[in-house]
Amino acid sequence: MSESMQVSRSDFDRYMVPNYAPVDMIPVRGRGSRLWDQQGREYIDLAGGIAVNALGHAHPAMIEALTEQAGKLWHLSNVMTNEPALRLAARLIEATFAEKVFFANSGAEANEAAFKLARRWAHDSFGPDKHEIIACTNSFHGRTLFTVSVGGQPKYSEGFGPALPGISHVPYNDLAALEATISDATCAVVVEPIQGEGGVIAADNDWLRGVRALCDRHNALLVFDEVQSGMGRTGKLFAYMDTPVLPDILTTAKSLGGGFPIAAMLTIDRVAKHFGVGTHGSTYGGNPLGCAVAERVLDIINTREVLDGVVQRRQWLVDGLQALNAEFGLFSEIRGRGLLIGAQFVEARRGQARLLQEAAQKAGLLVLQAGPDVMRLAPSLLIEQQDIEEALQRLRLAVQGLDA
Ligand SMILES: *Cc1c(COP(=O)(O)O)cnc(C)c1O
Repeated sequence: MSESMQVSRSDFDRYMVPNYAPVDMIPVRGRGSRLWDQQGREYIDLAGGIAVNALGHAHPAMIEALTEQAGKLWHLSNVMTNEPALRLAARLIEATFAEKVFFANSGAEANEAAFKLARRWAHDSFGPDKHEIIACTNSFHGRTLFTVSVGGQPKYSEGFGPALPGISHVPYNDLAALEATISDATCAVVVEPIQGEGGVIAADNDWLRGVRALCDRHNALLVFDEVQSGMGRTGKLFAYMDTPVLPDILTTAKSLGGGFPIAAMLTIDRVAKHFGVGTHGSTYGGNPLGCAVAERVLDIINTREVLDGVVQRRQWLVDGLQALNAEFGLFSEIRGRGLLIGAQFVEARRGQARLLQEAAQKAGLLVLQAGPDVMRLAPSLLIEQQDIEEALQRLRLAVQGLDA
């Protein structure tokens, strides 16, 4: 089909499986934290592709990395290795607790690899009985059958036949519940250091200390799903760096490629060695295009300037939200870390997150929700102060329009 074929939002309902309900406009162009739709209307983007567009849209360094690599080599398969993958792996190891890396294409795939590796490690080291995985209520780990089974939101696994066995859930930030559930049959405890989809809720440091100790006592691996919280989002390269614990396995995706699909599972040698030749794989995982882009994204994010900038930008946004809240009394809590911000609606406004999202869009502002009662912001880590100020003005208009 030629590029001149006209398409519109109604074509979504005609052609696409109805598993999404996209908004009524179609963006066609972006630059930094601004987007333009088919009609040329401009929006300030505080959604950031759901914590993916860490450097905003069309960042010149990403375009350069992508086009440079596109002229050299796109794909080889894992029969051969490639330079961008090896460079990116070395960079990730240098920057974190990790000693080995596995590349995938999405958060769910990185988690799938993490859960399979944990079971394989336990099987090899302790025998087949040690296969149980403990995860948290309300957690989100992706949409494959294994990851919806580990995820703590039953609505995502119901109706797809039996969930995978050997998985249980305990409330987040509740050490007694974990202590009552964990045993020597547990191979892994899976935690989002900040629950993203579950409402932007951060883990307590005391709880994490306890989780780490229980994992050590029962020879279970601690898996951190940092698909949403990682890559500078919190003002550290990874959220675990602001906690008193180290994980044994960490997954990252979303911001890793800044918009190019790539994911990674990071781990330590004594665990990694249980993924021997042939045990696991991915056709596209670690392809040169994705790795070249991610290498450049990592170089830019993992600097003092950008990470400190996240802290500053959070302050601007939270100050603005608090001023708005003083005027309108919308939120009972403004929480999260860095540029992953959740604003919980007051009791009287429960269920209004989608409504505010729609009102904001009318005012030229893109925001997210995390469940029906929380407005979520996950903007570019490089968003300009002027964009933040204008975004807050547009949000004020949207809020005024809410009760009109
Ligand atoms: C988005 C997300 C995933 C799933 O990532 P996909 O790339 O959509 O597969 C997994 N875990 C967390 C914490 C996420 O936020």
